[in-house]
Amino acid sequence: MRGAKVSVRDLRKRYGAVKALDGVTFDVESGEYFVILGPVGSGRSTLLKCIAGLERPDSGDILFDGESVLGLPPEKRLAGYMPPGYALFPHMTVWENVAYGLWIRGYPRREVEERVEEALKLVGLLHRADSYPHQLSGGQRQRIALARALASGARVLLLDEPLTALDAVLTLEVRREVRRLAKSLGLTVIHVTHNQEEAMAVADRVAVMRRGRVEQVGSPEEVYFNPLTPFEAKFVADANLLPGKLVEVEGASGVAEVEGLGPVRVLHRGLAAGAEVLVAVRPESIRVGGSRFRGKVLDLSHLGHTLRLWVEVGKLRLRVDTEPVLGLKPGSEITFDLDEPLLAFEYSSWEGEGVE
Ligand code: ADP
Ligand code: MG
Repeated sequence: MRGAKVSVRDLRKRYGAVKALDGVTFDVESGEYFVILGPVGSGRSTLLKCIAGLERPDSGDILFDGESVLGLPPEKRLAGYMPPGYALFPHMTVWENVAYGLWIRGYPRREVEERVEEALKLVGLLHRADSYPHQLSGGQRQRIALARALASGARVLLLDEPLTALDAVLTLEVRREVRRLAKSLGLTVIHVTHNQEEAMAVADRVAVMRRGRVEQVGSPEEVYFNPLTPFEAKFVADANLLPGKLVEVEGASGVAEVEGLGPVRVLHRGLAAGAEVLVAVRPESIRVGGSRFRGKVLDLSHLGHTLRLWVEVGKLRLRVDTEPVLGLKPGSEITFDLDEPLLAFEYSSWEGEGVE
């Protein structure tokens, strides 16, 4: 099997006054595991449904292997859409769930049997064919939903928030498994999530979506370490966005005077001295124990291997991730350094809901 190359061209879709898709363009290579990362309401489900043929875009085009599929009904597109929560039928067995889509399309019985058996074998659950969904683990239900898409002959898997119904530990396993299965079958996958960690863990490439637009497409490292917009820096890497002013410029580097911190070395994209900026400081690029800056711990929370601190520095509140430090508590004074250079964005590019 070979997954289709998927090309999305200037796709637009409105619901009344809401621009769910506002000119979306990208390519997904055959066999690629592509993740759409964006907040709730950014247009991700609308995009997947347009690709699946369940919604009709107002304009733009969708091509599989270079051929427009807009004129094709969903079942002819060979794109399997998996809605959030996978929508398995609780009163049907595993076998019936996988077969259902083929029955309603009127496939001959022999072919249904062959396809269902093959798909259940691929996901390793043929031995559970007579079970009901509630008798399976979350991970197994996920695989049934995959089997259903595979049985329908999908060459493109469209996974809409596929892991939200699972608990944290299971999620780690299942996301690896879904990726491995898709890769072994050569399928093209477009996987939607709001969870940046999930995106980083499974994606070959990530598209960051906001308000019906794609802000950046790149490798997980690119979107994490080199975001194009302050929104992305915050959404993908949870960066602190600190207001300041660019005071020195030399090519793409410079110095920004950050309110409450002082001068820091920055990288920027074509800004001039005097520009109002937002300096992005990722929580883990703040080095607790350094000597340059001082702050006071407001609150702290253990996140497994890292310790998340909320630190007050003058009027600033910084999110800080550090290795666990013994004896820290609310009220503790700390010192820290910053990993420079930091990224500086034009202040006006934020268009956000207030800076923190
Ligand atoms: P996401 O999946 O990223 O959460 P959606 O694609 O579901 O986002 O929705 C994008 C925007 O379009 C939201 O503002 C949503 O309220 C709106 N929207 C989606 N589907 C419909 C619909 N059928 N009717 C009206 N508005 C819709
Ligand atoms: Mg959605």
